[in-house]
Amino acid sequence: MKIELETKSYTEKANLYQILNKEELSKNDIVYLLSLNDKPDTEILFQHADEVRKKFCGDDIHPRGIIEFSNFCEADCVYCGLRKSNATLERYRISIDEIITTAKKIYSAGIRTIVLQSGEDPHYTKDDITKIIEAIKQNCDVAITLSLGERTFEEYDEWKQAGADRYLLKHETANLKIYSSLHSKQKLEERLNHIRYLKSIGFQTGSGNIIGLPKQTIEDIADDILLCKELDCDMCSFSPFIPSPETPFRDIPPAELSLTLKTMAVARIVLKNVHIPATTALSTLSPEGRKLGLQVGANVIMPNFTPDEYKDKYRIYANKKTYDPINYVKELKELISSMGRRVAEDKGHSLKI
Ligand code: SAM
Ligand code: SF4
Repeated sequence: MKIELETKSYTEKANLYQILNKEELSKNDIVYLLSLNDKPDTEILFQHADEVRKKFCGDDIHPRGIIEFSNFCEADCVYCGLRKSNATLERYRISIDEIITTAKKIYSAGIRTIVLQSGEDPHYTKDDITKIIEAIKQNCDVAITLSLGERTFEEYDEWKQAGADRYLLKHETANLKIYSSLHSKQKLEERLNHIRYLKSIGFQTGSGNIIGLPKQTIEDIADDILLCKELDCDMCSFSPFIPSPETPFRDIPPAELSLTLKTMAVARIVLKNVHIPATTALSTLSPEGRKLGLQVGANVIMPNFTPDEYKDKYRIYANKKTYDPINYVKELKELISSMGRRVAEDKGHSLKI
């Protein structure tokens, strides 16, 4: 019996190494890797992902300073605390001048990418966003990432012309049924068309999923990774679901840390030269989340520079981790050098350019 067990485990190890060494992974391979449960096997997976990260991205970790400038949202994504139907959330909008002042603070902190994020808030018109992009570009030598949800193609054209570099619009889930059940307004095919359009006009694009949504299977997560590959994204964010008490998903348990880390690791192995963040949601899920993420394939970190008076109101989910960004960057530099890596000082453009 003992011999049989040892033989089985030897065969499984050989199988694992064989999959990890393949040039292209099939959906079955991805499902196999995401289903690993045994600690020594997941350690092998994580180590391989870290090696792929080193080979394709080097040791640089790219900081992106994020400004969450409005928590108003026209959309009603069931999982999100900013959803339109959440009547308990105190809403805010940051003025154009304050957004620009905050961007300058990010630049002074030595960060060379600014992420402008909000709910889907048409209060900020096409011209407002253009004005913000132009003012930031005039004052700071930075890359700009927009994360404003679905806007019109005409708006995307103008913002690209104004100098915006990147657009982050996650597909959230590749499972059509789940997507439709979570979004009353948006359609998955439309979202994918937006991502493809953004790419076609020269934006570096970001997509990704939420891990741990109700009814989501391992096969769905494999499809999410493969969809990011098909979309040829420059950055991909795989973040754990965390419940918000202000949404219908208040009683859904948060995603498992191990599944989140496995997803990031497998995504790194499949997608190779893309930027993958260690998300704030991962740090919220576990105090060690940021470090663990950086050890299994992540190469991006997003310090939050939203001014203090608004930070607590950008409540996507419960217990969202908040901190002083300047201290955070200092701490981060120490953590990163203790890991034998370095904080990048450039704009950290797409690794595919
Ligand atoms: N409104 C824009 C959009 O949806 O693209 C940008 C802001 S939105 C808050 C940014 C991301 O938050 C979404 O893409 C979604 O993946 C994530 N998110 C929302 N609710 C979440 C939750 N409960 N747990 C984890 N991530 C969540
Ligand atoms: Fe709005 Fe984005 Fe939240 Fe959806 S995920 S409700 S679009 S802020």
